[in-house]
Amino acid sequence: MPGLRTMTLPSKCLNCDVELSIPIVCGGCHTLYPIPQTANYFDLLGLPQQFDLDGEKLSDTYRAIARNIHPDRFAGQATEMDLLATKLSAQVNEAWRVLKDPVRRAEYLLELANGPSAADCREVPGDLLARVMMLREDLEEARDQSDEQTLTSLRCSIQDERDHAFDNIAKRANDLSLANDTEKKAFRQLLNSIKYFDSLLADFASDPLSQGNPQQ
Ligand SMILES: [Zn+2]
Repeated sequence: MPGLRTMTLPSKCLNCDVELSIPIVCGGCHTLYPIPQTANYFDLLGLPQQFDLDGEKLSDTYRAIARNIHPDRFAGQATEMDLLATKLSAQVNEAWRVLKDPVRRAEYLLELANGPSAADCREVPGDLLARVMMLREDLEEARDQSDEQTLTSLRCSIQDERDHAFDNIAKRANDLSLANDTEKKAFRQLLNSIKYFDSLLADFASDPLSQGNPQQ
């Protein structure tokens, strides 16, 4: 089962004897402790593999590692160290980008649970496609009529639906490693639905109406 991997870091730095309080690098002398190839993003940042994360701990750990493995610290040292620092730095940055974003974090947990990727399964829940098409038509009509009130209420209702889909994701994301194929597929559908809602919401953000339509 994923998530129960234990890290094989020594408790103290082999070089300077300082206690190793963050993964990957000694905060005292900056000796690097590369982690195994099999390590995932949670391992990289020394966090439990779960959806509910302590956001503050995530940021603190990321910043501490990033500061200590910054490639500038290793510039001019043996090329091997320099390259390793650059590689680890890129991995930690990518782990941070994925884990700090709740939707990407949920998507990553599905990947770790061997669930379907967005390319494997493009389906969305129930009648979402028809609903999205309808919302787009309403949006265009409200724009044509410069109907600010309808636009505002449409945006609110799309945001509500997005929030609802996200709540469902958050409820299920911690149990993915125990989920069956049907449940994983349903989870993928929810993730796909978020993309549709975000695309609709982005349409509102680019709405020229609020500044007056320049074409009319
Ligand atoms: Zn050290």
